[in-house]
Amino acid sequence: MRRVAALAALLPLAFSQDPKKDPDQIGVRDVSKGINFYSIQREMALGKALAADVEKSHKLLTDKGVSEYINRIGQNLATHSDTKIPVIVKVIEGDEPNAITLPGGYIFIQTGLIKIADTEAQLAAAMAHEIAHVAARHGTRQASHSQVGQAATIPLIFLPGLGGLCGLGANRLLVPAAGLADSRANEKEADMLGLQYLYKSGYDPLGMVEIFERIFSLDDRKHGKATRAFSTHPDGDQRLVEVQKNIEAQLKDRSQYVVNTSDFDKMQVHLAALEWDKKPEPVAPKAPTLHKPGDKFISAKKFVPESGAAASQMKEAYTIR
Ligand SMILES: [Zn+2]
Repeated sequence: MRRVAALAALLPLAFSQDPKKDPDQIGVRDVSKGINFYSIQREMALGKALAADVEKSHKLLTDKGVSEYINRIGQNLATHSDTKIPVIVKVIEGDEPNAITLPGGYIFIQTGLIKIADTEAQLAAAMAHEIAHVAARHGTRQASHSQVGQAATIPLIFLPGLGGLCGLGANRLLVPAAGLADSRANEKEADMLGLQYLYKSGYDPLGMVEIFERIFSLDDRKHGKATRAFSTHPDGDQRLVEVQKNIEAQLKDRSQYVVNTSDFDKMQVHLAALEWDKKPEPVAPKAPTLHKPGDKFISAKKFVPESGAAASQMKEAYTIR
């Protein structure tokens, strides 16, 4: 009787401690458990082929300073993660705060994502989310799951990886309805695991809250809140709440965190200078278009004041739509 009581006392502890929720078990637990028809070798070969496609359809940023910095952050996070697959991080040009993560460890960070980050901890948070997709092998697991349900063609669901964070537009169209629930669950898990990797690498975990706030507020201004209901990603507000909950429940307090570095600031200045260099020469202002009698009236142009705080706000609102 006494033995039964002692066992019963042990049981809740043993079962309540999900290793995925315990950052102390990073590296010694298996976060990629589940049905998967792909061996790691096959996954890496598939990723390599898909990465070649991405490199054909996107412009790689070849600048050494930026790409080496981004790769260094990625490798450091990977070292503090569960991934058994080596991570390859490259930068692609594009204004969206987005990234593409392919099976086999291929991560493409878009310059728009780098630029929206205000600190190294914020940028690392977004990258940690991507590395979590690699570690948990979400791409091939989701593909295997879809094959079981005979629901989906395979390569489409891998693109793009990061989300509202991982890319609203294309993702929403490509992921078949059956994969939506999977995708949302994967995003939620990538948020949780990524947060742990961020923390384990010494960064301020609040960096994840901050980068989500920045990305989601841009998303809302751009697409409107309603579109997110159809995205593969859980609602932004809900994600923020979850991250905050996970910080409290899973991460022990530390006396010091890395929030930012001078390398991050230097890289941002360098990236801005690169983009400035590429801007075309200013052209002479166009002569006004005049309407002649008989011209068809197309649409009235909205009035945008030229100067003042209101003017810059309005201009910004117009340009990002
Ligand atoms: Zn994601």
